[in-house]
Amino acid sequence: MESPSQAYPTPVVGQDKVQPGFWAHTALKNPWPRGKRVRTRPETLLHELQTASLRREPGVRTLKNGEDFYYTIGTKTANIEALLVQSIGERIDIEEACDSCQRHQGPFTSCVIAPDLRHLLTTCANCHWGSKGQRCSFTSQPPVAHTTIDKPETLEELEETLAKEILARDSAIAAFHEHNRRIKELLSTKATILAEKQQEITPKLPS
Ligand SMILES: [Zn+2]
Ligand SMILES: [Zn+2]
Repeated sequence: MESPSQAYPTPVVGQDKVQPGFWAHTALKNPWPRGKRVRTRPETLLHELQTASLRREPGVRTLKNGEDFYYTIGTKTANIEALLVQSIGERIDIEEACDSCQRHQGPFTSCVIAPDLRHLLTTCANCHWGSKGQRCSFTSQPPVAHTTIDKPETLEELEETLAKEILARDSAIAAFHEHNRRIKELLSTKATILAEKQQEITPKLPS
């Protein structure tokens, strides 16, 4: 007979593993009674994701006992969903990660979202864990690469969205030029300093 520790291996601590492992496969299999019930209902994350492809084995921040982890996952639908999204979703680069993930909150090391299912999950998986989704900055500010614009219903709405986008683009361009100007200034200052240093160390020619 297998001992519990062998039945439920310790989750990977640290970075996600490229190869989906025990916890990714278990998330997809969804053996938890609560999870099985929810999965039968259309328009739920677990229903929508039951045929998703696994993309990684999620890494956790701190060492966990496999049996406890398994039990904790099964206590909340949100935890089952979080583990699954963490295993199949789109990983956000750390600079773009939600505020909570940048502050190292949540059980997982990376910030992962389900981009095609934003109508079912607006937060990252890490914040969704334990139903703490309201803390996720993605609820109000989704990562830029994954922002979609709702199709405007009227011409006025379209004009308004268009004006906002143009304004956002122009401010980004202005910021770009501003940074460019400062970089040029710094580079020219650097060149001057280097030139002065060069003069200092060049031996003076006898007059
Ligand atoms: Zn996050
Ligand atoms: Zn989050």
